[in-house]
Amino acid sequence: MSSIERTDALLGIERLSKSFAGQPVLREVSLAVPEGRVTAIIGSSGSGKSTLLRCVNTLEDYEAGTIRLRGERLGYAGEGRTRRRLGDRRLSAQRGRIGMVFQGYNLFPHLTARQNIMLGLRRVGGQGRAEAAEAAAGWLARVGLAERAEHYPYQLSGGQQQRVAIARAFALRPELVLLDEVTSALDPELVGEVLAVIRALAGAGMTMMVVSHELAFVRDVADEVAFMHQGRIVEIGPPAELLQRPATPELAAFIARFR
Ligand code: ADP
Ligand code: MG
Repeated sequence: MSSIERTDALLGIERLSKSFAGQPVLREVSLAVPEGRVTAIIGSSGSGKSTLLRCVNTLEDYEAGTIRLRGERLGYAGEGRTRRRLGDRRLSAQRGRIGMVFQGYNLFPHLTARQNIMLGLRRVGGQGRAEAAEAAAGWLARVGLAERAEHYPYQLSGGQQQRVAIARAFALRPELVLLDEVTSALDPELVGEVLAVIRALAGAGMTMMVVSHELAFVRDVADEVAFMHQGRIVEIGPPAELLQRPATPELAAFIARFR
């Protein structure tokens, strides 16, 4: 199984199972993400990758299994018949510890790049205007967009918008960031700049779960890669091993398609 010990993980998922309308979508998924590491999730469309990330971010409920962040159980309290979903306030507090970036950039169209980043810092982070502005400027510089601070989303390329969305997520200093196919909607020539930003953040020790079809990037950046097929993790290990010597025909076929 996993090459990484579960015990000291920042995020620990144990036997997570979920179905939609009786159809199993996640089947006993277990996974650990240690602090400062990047775990990549790969797999065909419909294999359950986004649902897994949404469960981690407490956006989805699930029937069985546990998810822990620094040992704290996410989403639920109790066991067996006393198992119950946490209330909205506790869910939203837990959600605040985890950042998420999606395929669509989801920037507020009426706010500049700087304001998009400041909004969360002020509302969620409780920062004052000056502090939030300084942090936003710092993050824009970090994703190579210092010159674009006063631009609105429509004045930015898709790649630039996605870099703002990434800066916005990281600016809130979450303990873990989930990235779900953040380059899938981009023109091919814009993919590299976004991947470069993620690579730099990984190099700076940010903990991430990254769903991506960019296998060269995955090989480069991930400490561990999990291949999902029909709701199960069927292979998991260091990227070089997994991608060079797939053990299952499913992963071999997947790699052949994305090469
Ligand atoms: P992936 O991200 O790997 O493409 P998803 O997690 O989005 O896969 O979807 C896994 C399966 O769950 C698919 O069969 C999808 O149709 C189904 N699914 C996802 N979200 C919902 C939903 N809200 N309601 C019903 N079925 C869903
Ligand atoms: Mg998906």
